[in-house]
Amino acid sequence: MINIKPRIESNELRMYRLLNSRKILLNEEATHLARLEKGYEGELLFDERVERLSKEWLVLNDMLFESNNTEFQIDSVIIAQKPILLFEIKNYEGDYYIVDDDWYYINGTQIQNPVSQLERKEVLFRRLLRELGYNIPIESYLLFVNPDFHLYNAPRNQSIIFSTQLNRFFEQLNKIPTNINEHYNKFAHKLISLHKTESRFTKTPKYTYGELRKGITCASCDSFNQKIVGSILECACGNTENVTSAIFRSIEEYNLLFPARKITTSNIYEWCNGIKSKRTIQRLLSNNYKHIRHGKSSYFIVKNHIG
Ligand SMILES: [Zn+2]
Repeated sequence: MINIKPRIESNELRMYRLLNSRKILLNEEATHLARLEKGYEGELLFDERVERLSKEWLVLNDMLFESNNTEFQIDSVIIAQKPILLFEIKNYEGDYYIVDDDWYYINGTQIQNPVSQLERKEVLFRRLLRELGYNIPIESYLLFVNPDFHLYNAPRNQSIIFSTQLNRFFEQLNKIPTNINEHYNKFAHKLISLHKTESRFTKTPKYTYGELRKGITCASCDSFNQKIVGSILECACGNTENVTSAIFRSIEEYNLLFPARKITTSNIYEWCNGIKSKRTIQRLLSNNYKHIRHGKSSYFIVKNHIG
């Protein structure tokens, strides 16, 4: 398979993770983070299975489109031939039930009906394709990837795939003939060009620079349990990282959390909690970022990546 749009953590998930290690999240923020983590974990489970199929199809993950002034996100789009396959991946765990068309968690909390959610996305996607002048049939599937999910009164709906059906479902997928010609390649790239990088509905948590703990967190476990040994950061979790690359990573994180704050030597020195001297930080910034001199002030911006 040709994964032309790999899945990465959303900025939203990254931000919540970074904040979680640098401040105490409010209860609702912690719940939201747990939900994001769980969803992402489920998507990775799906990706692993897709990767195991040796198919020459095109895979686009985490697509965010807009059609009819409505934003909609699709976990995975697989372009094999006709039809195009859309996937909504759910990592629900525990017992759920349905009354009429309403879905509930076992404790009685109503959740969004994922079937209608998917149907809505399919309608919007079809509309988008029509606007682009494509008339390709679509099939969409709702996949429950968690083996610890149970749905009472489950409808007999061909587009819902439960974890106990996943093996057979993927066997069926494997039988789809693939014929990726230039037409489909162009189509896939057209879709990528329509992908929006930021959602209007991202729930941005509230935080201030002052309240966040400064210092470099571990790239693997996000903790501060690190010590410097020579030019290497060693974390209690076993992860090691070169100090210089850890500083660059921290600058990226700073940039993600505070897009409006300038990258200056003293800001980064403070953000990294004095891990290296100001001179070293200054040198790293000068060599790798674009220096902007503006009257008395001087700061750095990320160099434009070409290609
Ligand atoms: Zn660690």
